[in-house]
Amino acid sequence: MAAAPGDIVLVPLNRREEIGVVWDGPTDRTVPDARLKPVSAAVDAPPLTEALRKFVDWVAAYTLATPGEVLAMALRVNLLRVAPARTGWMLAAAAPEAGRLTPARARIAAVLADGRPRSAAALARAAGVGAAAVRGMADAGWLLPAALPVGPAFDWPDPAHPGPALSQVQAAAAAHLRAAVAAQRFRVDLLDGVTGSGKTEVYLEAVAECLRQGRQALVLLPEIALSSQWLERFERRFGVAPAVWHSDLPARTRRTTWRAVAEGAAPVVVGARSALFLPFPDLGLVVVDEEHETAFKQEDGVIYHARDMAVVRARLSEAPAILVSATPSLETLANVEAGRYGHLTLAARHAGAAMPDVAAIDLRAMPPERGRFLAPPLIEAMRATLAQGEQVMLFLNRRGFAPLTLCRACGHRMQCPNCTAWLVEHRARRVLQCHHCGHAEPIPPNCPNCDADHTLTPVGPGVERITDEAAETFPEARRLVMASDTIPGPDAAAAAAAAIAAREIDLIIGTQIVAKGWHFPHLTLVGVVDADLGLAGGDLRAAERTVQLLHQVAGRAGRAEAPGRVLLQTFSPEHPVMRALVQGDLAAFMRREAEERRPGHWPPFGRLAALIVSADTGEAADATARALGRTAPAGEGVAVLGPAPAPLAVLRGRHRRRLLLKTRRDIAVQPLLRTWLDQVAVPRGVRVDVDVDPVSFL
Ligand code: ADP
Ligand code: ZN
Repeated sequence: MAAAPGDIVLVPLNRREEIGVVWDGPTDRTVPDARLKPVSAAVDAPPLTEALRKFVDWVAAYTLATPGEVLAMALRVNLLRVAPARTGWMLAAAAPEAGRLTPARARIAAVLADGRPRSAAALARAAGVGAAAVRGMADAGWLLPAALPVGPAFDWPDPAHPGPALSQVQAAAAAHLRAAVAAQRFRVDLLDGVTGSGKTEVYLEAVAECLRQGRQALVLLPEIALSSQWLERFERRFGVAPAVWHSDLPARTRRTTWRAVAEGAAPVVVGARSALFLPFPDLGLVVVDEEHETAFKQEDGVIYHARDMAVVRARLSEAPAILVSATPSLETLANVEAGRYGHLTLAARHAGAAMPDVAAIDLRAMPPERGRFLAPPLIEAMRATLAQGEQVMLFLNRRGFAPLTLCRACGHRMQCPNCTAWLVEHRARRVLQCHHCGHAEPIPPNCPNCDADHTLTPVGPGVERITDEAAETFPEARRLVMASDTIPGPDAAAAAAAAIAAREIDLIIGTQIVAKGWHFPHLTLVGVVDADLGLAGGDLRAAERTVQLLHQVAGRAGRAEAPGRVLLQTFSPEHPVMRALVQGDLAAFMRREAEERRPGHWPPFGRLAALIVSADTGEAADATARALGRTAPAGEGVAVLGPAPAPLAVLRGRHRRRLLLKTRRDIAVQPLLRTWLDQVAVPRGVRVDVDVDPVSFL
């Protein structure tokens, strides 16, 4: 068979048949012809487009993964079980003009004029002719066979379906984005607007324009499982639901959705980062909502940042990208500053809703009662808010009851046997659990170290403990805990959101789940139990991330008529992060952050790549890490930090060491990494993972 690049084929490999894709580029002459085997069969699926093939190659080169590993992400469906395509007919270019056809044939040509293939039966019906007329025209060579879509026919969102009347500022931003989509060219715009300013409504206008252009749109959301409100919003705007893509979909839905995307039958896809690898034949827009979110970084397998790769995907598809956030990342702001990205700003909340009033509670001056975690001013504010029939949210980014369990007699701390991590008490389930590897054990009655009786004590709060405390103080308040273990999936999240919107809940206690784009009109008070929590890690982006997270949480308050209030419990109200939040001046904070990173060439003013060495023993990890240290690249504008034990020195029983390559922005890390890794033989059982542009430093 004649195969062309992009064709999906079955090939014999050892004794199995594997799926492969015919790739571009010159033939690999290093394998002798005698060792090659013929392709077994073509797979009945649309070929992968050139844009997607280039994207696979690009991601592989950037992340130092193999093209095969990246391609596997594009083919994460069982293609052999995808229903075979049905064949229909399209009009041949060679067909004579209508005037020179019989009336029946002219009607057939008129139906096919829109370029969409039809089955013989559908064509005969639409043209009001018999089956013989279609056959005759095909026999004449004036109809050509063409594959028919077999995916679920996703309903076509109607761009003319009326959306809300936009404010002047919103309309101007929307017009700019519509023009970018209509131009069918690559460009990137940051849509930067305070929480509740209508960013979603604005970028949905760009989606509408993309539909008018007849191209496909992709919207990436950081946590699709928490996006029930977004989906409702889309339906209200367009009258139908979009196609949804994420890794937890049932296999059958994945197959049909993949196929529908490949056939252009899914006009809008909303998905998690893996949706970037879907086989869009004609991608016309990529939107990354909440672009600052670290959830866009994939941390295992092929390690990539979906926000950055979304921009690449757009470029290779000649399509615009829109990055959306109330708290843009420093990376994106630097691109705006450098003139690489456009900048659209929505400075005020929609319909005159005020931004919440943010204040710090100095825990040194106003500590909670002994053994408690809510300070008196927060309790007072909660009381007043609840008394008015409004909702309160308490935020603490820690699951479980207590992050540490300690023996009062000997000081022993309960640690995970597999990880460098304390076990977290989950009281409701009566276990101590590791949040890194999942290890769980019952809470022992005696200290495993000194055997003292009932001396194990929880230290510090998690959301469960805060919930208990709030329940004692406000027994009447109807409570809801929102954490990944209490809200396990999209249905639970949707139910929770609906209960809050229906005012069946008075008090929400949650982890970072509650920081997502929720719109709760009756929520007017947000209490941050431990505003200092995210600063403790001290990595490169700790301050930036804390500002972003807390600003997003704060943004849940006062989104309708009643003004919102936010109280931050902190031991350091003078910290720049707290000041930025209290003054509501994030831009100033980000400028300051930029000035701190610029001189040392820290990202985004320099480049980073991490090597993570892991092995079954500390000695094996050390040996390879030291070998990498000895052969580390050097030179002007290049530095290597480490090797050093990772903060998570043991994870799932693997011993981990880290090295960090740091270069000036004008020096690419990939060639340095390739040469470096080529020089070190990595023994069996030792792994070296490459993380370009690391987000996590654990
Ligand atoms: P953001 O994404 O910036 O946080 P949203 O797009 O979620 O803001 O808008 C906040 C709320 O205001 C939503 O309920 C949205 O439907 C509503 N809204 C925004 N703009 C308009 C508008 N022009 N007309 C009516 N409602 C609007
Ligand atoms: Zn563990």
